Amino acid sequence: MQAIFMGLPGAGKGTQAERIVEEFQIPHISTGDIFRAAMSEGTPLGLKAKEYVDKGQLVPDDVTIGIVSERVSRPDTASGFLLDGFPRTVAQAEALDKVLKEMGKEIDVVIHLNVDRGLLLERLTGRRICRSCGSTYHVVFNPPKVEGQCDKCGGELYQRADDTVETVATRLDVNIKQQEPLLQFYAAKGLLRTVDGDAEINEVFGQISHILRGVQ
Ligand code: ADP
Ligand code: AMP
Repeated sequence: MQAIFMGLPGAGKGTQAERIVEEFQIPHISTGDIFRAAMSEGTPLGLKAKEYVDKGQLVPDDVTIGIVSERVSRPDTASGFLLDGFPRTVAQAEALDKVLKEMGKEIDVVIHLNVDRGLLLERLTGRRICRSCGSTYHVVFNPPKVEGQCDKCGGELYQRADDTVETVATRLDVNIKQQEPLLQFYAAKGLLRTVDGDAEINEVFGQISHILRGVQ
């Protein structure tokens, strides 16, 4: 099953992906995670990505497409994958189709987590991530049992550098502009399924697993 999660920053893609990959046993491929790992390791990719990620802008398509093309070709994707945060432009979506076609695969479903824009600022500025295992929390909506500490592995929770009020505004503007044509692209292919992402985390999970079980 090749699936894509779409939605604006803060829509809940990462939160749901954590749960979905456990249930469906497919790898979670998040371009944001890939860039953050490269940035923290200080690799050439990380240095390049940092110029854009820190400002809330999109990393150029040629860089991003190259990374994803390599990642979806690895053996662990044999029974599928869940893409999160990619594609973010129509050019990326077209490149993805091409790479998958060469591998004899195609996208089965695109799930759009639709969230009222007004909720996103609060979700993003209250987001906390585990430094060790990458689990996502929210100080109000999904707090850890012990403040600042991951429930799953005990790791330290941190706030992403781009989750500040200033950068969030740019990220939302950039992503809103790119998202509309992409939604149309997948709707035209009959692949788009929209989920009410305003709902509570477990409820959203229920809606998504129902859709994915139907495509499996
Ligand atoms: P994305 O990966 O789409 O950017 P995240 O999954 O990281 O979004 O979620 C953004 C923030 O909102 C996180 O702090 C997360 O805990 C919180 N969150 C996710 N889904 C919900 C929800 N349905 N209701 C309330 N808060 C949520
Ligand atoms: P995310 O973790 O999905 O919120 O992504 C964090 C940042 O990584 C974004 O604000 C972009 O700078 C960059 N990024 C992630 N995915 C992409 C993509 N598909 N295309 C371009 N830039 C991306």
